[in-house]
Amino acid sequence: MKRTKVVATIGPSCEKRETLAGMAAAGMDLVRVNTSHGTPADHERYVKLVRVVEGAVNRSLGVILDTRGPKVRLGDLPGPVELISGDEVVLGRGGLPLRQGDLPHYIPVGIRLLIADGAVELTVTGRGDDALRCRVVRGGRVSSGKGINVPDVELPYPALTDADRVSLEMARELAIEYVALSFVKSPEDVEVAREILGEDGPRVIAKVELGVAVRRMEEIVAVADGIMVARGDLGVEIGPYHVPLVQKRLVDLCNERAKPVIVATQMLESMVRSSVPTRAEVSDVATAVWDGADAVMLSEETAAGRYPVESVRAMTEACRAAEESGFPIRVPGLTPELVGQVPGACAKAAVQIARDIKAAAIICATVSGWTARLVASLRPDVPVAAATPEIRVARALSLVWGVIPLCIDPTEGTDTLAEASIQAAREQGIVEPGDRVVFTAGLPFWVPGTTNVVRVVRV
Ligand code: PEP
Repeated sequence: MKRTKVVATIGPSCEKRETLAGMAAAGMDLVRVNTSHGTPADHERYVKLVRVVEGAVNRSLGVILDTRGPKVRLGDLPGPVELISGDEVVLGRGGLPLRQGDLPHYIPVGIRLLIADGAVELTVTGRGDDALRCRVVRGGRVSSGKGINVPDVELPYPALTDADRVSLEMARELAIEYVALSFVKSPEDVEVAREILGEDGPRVIAKVELGVAVRRMEEIVAVADGIMVARGDLGVEIGPYHVPLVQKRLVDLCNERAKPVIVATQMLESMVRSSVPTRAEVSDVATAVWDGADAVMLSEETAAGRYPVESVRAMTEACRAAEESGFPIRVPGLTPELVGQVPGACAKAAVQIARDIKAAAIICATVSGWTARLVASLRPDVPVAAATPEIRVARALSLVWGVIPLCIDPTEGTDTLAEASIQAAREQGIVEPGDRVVFTAGLPFWVPGTTNVVRVVRV
């Protein structure tokens, strides 16, 4: 059983029920709905489809709704335009149109503009109220809607656009597990989203893709429910050569705080057109696994590629091979602040006991998922089963490394909880009679975050 989770982006290539079910069978744990493409009606249809497939495959599948964010873009062009190195070009009024007409206000002369993921580079040589005169430093073809990155200027656009607020409302109404917030600049951006989503609403994953977010990563990790290392825009903003280190630092920060972290973008990019991955791509997935990522993500590979099911299968195989290689996963350990509290101390003890007595599994009865996350962040060798009466918690735990979410009927008291949880683990083939397991729970059970029981139980 693989332990690193696989997120796959839904799109035209996999929107058929059978294809999505095939992806789930191949190892997909969560589906990302990217609101940068399609209409709100498409997004709602996708979420409902995931719920149908979840019922059919009898396994919790989480949903991540990814916001479009205030990405600066070219406006509509009648067709592609070839920009020649050394030429002059105007952006804004009288030249290539801009979606954000006010952009020239914020861009001083001398600044670099990167278009189409950095394929084309311009330098601003002059500025008017509603247009920028630029020199083409690196030429190439641009077309309608292509993204523009301005890595050296902190633009004033808030992380949530009006369209994103509509998406957040939908996420709340459809009880989606996670919202991935694009272009986060500060902890306040996360708080604003959480306010709209409500206290029991979807959890907020902050996408780290701007230089300012890298500079403030500790503060952002502290307030977010999880992190996505959004390597696409990040590579344009800070340069591709700095991405590996930022990935490692973010993964460590999240592991120390038991928060799920997703490594995303270009993981199996060649599989958009090829049925097999390159060796470099497999190495990249293995590196993410060994870094300690909770999850790895597929974007265009599954949303628009020719081989969505094969891409998930290749991702699963790459994760499994890395996990079974014997090469150690980095485990920074929980922050002293968490180990100094009862739940963190119990999680650490449960992992130690499971190792010492060679337990078959650690079974966490959990209402909020917190104990299971604490245990999983220590990357134990044995399976971690999380038994919860809350279907939304089970779905949310599908993002957490090594956790097998199980739904149980509501119950109370250590004995009945242990019985129900172990029974659910037996039904899934995680444990069998005679096995010893480490059981954790918090009492009173309905108060989240109260882990205070660690027991060794024979199945
Ligand atoms: C990224 O930039 O890497 C990313 C995941 O965001 P998006 O796919 O929304 O551009």
